[in-house]
Amino acid sequence: MKIGFIGLGNMGAPMAANLAAAGHEVTGFDLAAPCPDGVSPVESAMEAARGADVVVTMLPNGEILRAVAAEIHGAMAPGAVHLDCSTVDVDSARAVADAAEAAGLSAVDAPVSGGVGGASAGTLTFMAGGSDAAFATVAPLFEVMGQKAVHCGAAGAGQAAKICNNMILGITMIGTCEAFALADKLGLDRQKMFDVVSTSSGYSWSMNAYCPAPGVGPTSPADNDYQPGFAAALMLKDLRLSQQAAEAADADTPLGAAAMALYAQFVEAEEGGGKDFSAMLPRLAARGRAG
Ligand code: NAD
Repeated sequence: MKIGFIGLGNMGAPMAANLAAAGHEVTGFDLAAPCPDGVSPVESAMEAARGADVVVTMLPNGEILRAVAAEIHGAMAPGAVHLDCSTVDVDSARAVADAAEAAGLSAVDAPVSGGVGGASAGTLTFMAGGSDAAFATVAPLFEVMGQKAVHCGAAGAGQAAKICNNMILGITMIGTCEAFALADKLGLDRQKMFDVVSTSSGYSWSMNAYCPAPGVGPTSPADNDYQPGFAAALMLKDLRLSQQAAEAADADTPLGAAAMALYAQFVEAEEGGGKDFSAMLPRLAARGRAG
């Protein structure tokens, strides 16, 4: 396929490189980042979009996505697909899909999980929203860039799935860290705590696959001085998107709201900037009830 790729940052560059390595003809554009091997650089987003069968965007937020979409839709060939893999708000995903349809195109919102490691290895998971026909068009690209793609529903459903998943992740990570901090104060050995919880009803991905306690469980960012991994700032972004969506949809999400507030404090007022989101454990363990 002829593919235009816009946004060649930490995630976009390896994804575009994998598409090129699989034999697709890929042109790339980024305001700042260089093109990876195999991807032909062009001078503008519009140029990357012109004549492409599929235009992939991998951008920081919904506002930038809307601006780029407004620039490229007019340049895209009739019937082409705008595949957005960024994590953005549900409203922006739906607005971009409406704009694509009005321009005679189709759109798929397909945020990913798997991080930079998954993007490089081609093992991302895609959660997709859009029509059956548009999903079928981009499915072969998901196979190159990832190991799994779930078609979640109509436009916006991919973003909805992503923020619901990550709201659970933020809440369970805080819960797991709180329990370790309490266990410390109760004199319970962290390894014993892991041995019990990882095989009992308190188990979760946060405990079993990404244990926030150094030297306990599988290797995780905790074993590397909490270098990300999945940065606390990105968790905060996703929690904010979940609460924005909850506001818009009138959904009651008290623990999501509490998790957002705690990560905001950690990232913006404390030592959490630049750290992995599991660094919530040393943060909690260092404090008493008075904060
Ligand atoms: P990044 O900041 O490394 O890359 C974004 C790129 O977009 C940058 O290179 C920037 O120069 C470029 N850009 C910004 N505005 C542009 C414009 N108008 N035209 C062209 N290029 C433009 O971010 P990232 O880590 O690659 O993340 C991209 C998206 O993927 C985000 O929405 C993020 O939430 C999501 N995501 C990231 C991870 C992760 O672990 N990094 C995991 C899952 C999802």
